[in-house]
This record gives sequence, C-alpha cells and structure tokens, in this order.
Amino acid sequence: MTNDYRNTEYCPAYENIGKKKQALKCKILTASPKTHNFYNKISTRKDPYHQSFAEIYNCKCAYCGAKWGELPTTSFEIDHFIKKNAHPDTAEGREADGQIENLVWSCYECNRGKSDLLITAPYDAALNPDDGSITNIFCRSEDYTIRIREKYQNDSFIRAFYKALGLDRESKRLDYLILKLRGKIKQETDAQKKLKFYEALSILQEKRNTYTQNHERQRK
Ligand SMILES: [Zn+2]
Repeated sequence: MTNDYRNTEYCPAYENIGKKKQALKCKILTASPKTHNFYNKISTRKDPYHQSFAEIYNCKCAYCGAKWGELPTTSFEIDHFIKKNAHPDTAEGREADGQIENLVWSCYECNRGKSDLLITAPYDAALNPDDGSITNIFCRSEDYTIRIREKYQNDSFIRAFYKALGLDRESKRLDYLILKLRGKIKQETDAQKKLKFYEALSILQEKRNTYTQNHERQRK
C-alpha cells in the first residue's frame, strides 16, 4: 500500500519531478533560447511540450491523482502553483509566473477550483506536490475519500485549499476507484474474474459520468 494518496498500489510513484522539469526546461531552451514564459510552450495540447510535461507527472494530476486519458471526461490543464498574476504585471513578473518550477500538471477540477487561492509561506512548501510534501497533509481514508490528516484538521488555510480544489468530492473517490480497478484488471489472469471487474468498472464509469454531467449542469 502506498502512502501517497494520489497513487493506487498499481501506479508508479511520482519521482524526481523537479529534476525532470529542469531537463525539460533545458530541452526547451536548446530549441528556443529566447523562451521566458514556459507556460506558453506547454499549456495546450497543440504545444510541442504538453505531452512531455504530462509524462513528468505520469500523466496524473499533482493534487488529486486523477489520470489523463483514463477517465471519461476529465480534461487536464497547466496550473500556476503560485497563482498567475501574484507577481507584478511587468515583464519580470510575468516571467516569474511562467517559470517551469511554478507550473504543475493538474486536472480541470483541481486547477479551476484552486484558481484564485494565493499560496504563501509556509504553505508553499507544505503543499508542494512536486517533492511529495502534499502527501504529509492529505491522505486516503478507508472508504477512499481524500482526507486532511489529523494534525492539520484545524488549519484554516489547509481546509480552504481542500475545499477549493474539491478534494472531498465523490468524483475524486470515483477517479481513484476507477484507477485502482484498471490496475487490478491489468494484473488479473483469471478470465471470469476479469469479466466481473470489467462489469464493476463500467458501473463506476457510469457513476463518474453522471457526476460530471450533474456538476457541469450546475456550473452553467
Ligand atoms: Zn486533480
């Protein structure tokens, strides 16, 4: 069992994210030496380094662990860890916003939920998803919901972050269960059992679709 609430026992660990980002930065600078804002090189699917950036995170959201390409309708975006425009609106400020160190692979729900929340010290270190610090704050409960660890339950900023990203939502639980079941199916050799797992998977995916549809309706 993994201690990282973002991963099931079938997921590879998030590893050396900082180093991998630096390597990608070098690659981008070699190809385009004048790059100041790395966001512009990775933010959309059309951008040449979008996929490479996703792979640094094993294509999984840095905040909730949802996996790109394996969930019915979840789309992914590039999050500014310290929110965009937190720096002054100057060339230097915009450059600081778009530094690769400040960019994080995130699912739509986490990124949009987090949008206006400004993370300041000491929370920038405590909630850092790249070095895994965030896993000291949150955990997965027995029913697979993401929870705030006991030590931080009365911390109002942590609670605000948790709520803003919707980490308590049923969708985060369903995404995790889908991922877990997919991992199980890949390893299962018994055809009968595999079939049963597929049936369960389709029920979970149906639930997740319904959740997304209802949620999108509320958003309109
Ligand atoms: Zn997420």
